[in-house]
Amino acid sequence: MSTPKDHPRYKSLMVREHLAEMVDEGLVNPTGLISHGRGEAFDYLMGEKTIAPALAAEKAAAAFLLRARNPIVCMNGNSIALDPKGLMALSEAVPARMEVNIFHRTEERMEALISYMESQGARGVLGREPDARIPGLTSDRALCSKAGVYDSDVILVPIEDGDRAEALIAMGKTVISIDLNPLSRTSKAASVPISDEITRALANITMFVRELKGKDAEIDAVIASYSSKETRRQTIECICDSLMAEFKE
Ligand code: ATP
Repeated sequence: MSTPKDHPRYKSLMVREHLAEMVDEGLVNPTGLISHGRGEAFDYLMGEKTIAPALAAEKAAAAFLLRARNPIVCMNGNSIALDPKGLMALSEAVPARMEVNIFHRTEERMEALISYMESQGARGVLGREPDARIPGLTSDRALCSKAGVYDSDVILVPIEDGDRAEALIAMGKTVISIDLNPLSRTSKAASVPISDEITRALANITMFVRELKGKDAEIDAVIASYSSKETRRQTIECICDSLMAEFKE
């Protein structure tokens, strides 16, 4: 398809085309396109930029990842299709291990996703040989690695579904979600819900990881002052304000 570069929605159209190609290649499940559409709608409502409460959550996420004993960056089809380099940059900066964990699991799709990450330069990606299960989840989406998701204390889950986020919280983990929808079950359950687009969120968390690294007192202060409830309230307030601004002109 030839999308003219001067099209006002050029970037968004290119991302949609890329995701459609990734569906054809079997990396993204077709339902991932619906999740993306839901995300786009919320991004639209937030002005397609990082809003202040998301930036505060991104800083808190960096602090929690730096404080972790076993931090894990989890990834699924959509997140790998949208920002493989961003996922790698964050896991290198912390450092944290990476694990592929998908809702619609087949061995072929797992292999394709891990191989794709490896083709981008990633090493040691977990997920090929699951040897543990997330309690409370039925079906293959409970499968995970003992050394990774199962034993993690702080886990980043981009574009996650609510069931798994809730199950990870029930395991006692600090769950950092990247989900543009502040009303999703994932955002409500997460310890640190980030309502921002994945590429912006990963870049900001990585920036804060680099900034906070080695500054223990500042890391403690960021964690102590963070409130997920307050951040979610501010996020919803931002959306309401931007909607009402339509009528103020
Ligand atoms: P839940 O089960 O948590 O209530 P859901 O049913 O909407 O939410 P999914 O369909 O799995 O869950 O979608 C995952 C979420 O990812 C969506 O809520 C969407 O807002 C978000 N999302 C989609 N694309 C992006 C993106 N590019 N960046 C950040 N978030 C995204």
